[in-house]
Amino acid sequence: MKSNHTIGPVELLILQGSPFCNINCKYCYLPDRMNKRRMARETVEKTIDQLIADQLFGTDVSIVWHAGEPLAVPLAYYQELIPLIRERVPAAVRVRHHLQTNAMLINDEWCAFIKENQIQVGISVDGPQFLNDINRLTRSGKSTFGKVMQGIAYLNEHDINYHAIAVITRRPCIIRTRSILFSKIWVLLNWA
Ligand code: SF4
Repeated sequence: MKSNHTIGPVELLILQGSPFCNINCKYCYLPDRMNKRRMARETVEKTIDQLIADQLFGTDVSIVWHAGEPLAVPLAYYQELIPLIRERVPAAVRVRHHLQTNAMLINDEWCAFIKENQIQVGISVDGPQFLNDINRLTRSGKSTFGKVMQGIAYLNEHDINYHAIAVITRRPCIIRTRSILFSKIWVLLNWA
């Protein structure tokens, strides 16, 4: 589908299913992460319909479910919306879904859904435990690392590929992130 606009086509669409997050990173920029509201089905429908009306779809679109924690929203939400998006987006457009997650809520059920829908998974983790737990903590200030690794273990068991995003700060120990054994690392710099 060819766009008539000087902008577009839209290749990346970020949808925030909910602002809620199950943890409380010290550097988090989301002020509303205790809020459990969800993006309504109608909002998703209108978003897709507007992109169609404006002829902004190209041959491919990546939809990233991101920020707060997308897996804190029940699986049923995506079971409804992912097929709905596929039905609405023109058949010629390839749709890829992505989840950017802290991995703590991944289980067998999520893995089956991720595989079935060929969802790309990005994991937010700041490295080994001594680095991750500087900033990425629960609301009561406890380590998140064990649960993150448990989620990664589920992905490995189900043979699901993933990449990692790490936030790097000025802490002197950060140089040691080079030793992290993730297949691919995307780096966000946080010089604050
Ligand atoms: S996982 Fe992401 S959304 Fe949740 S508190 Fe950390 S930075 Fe914020």
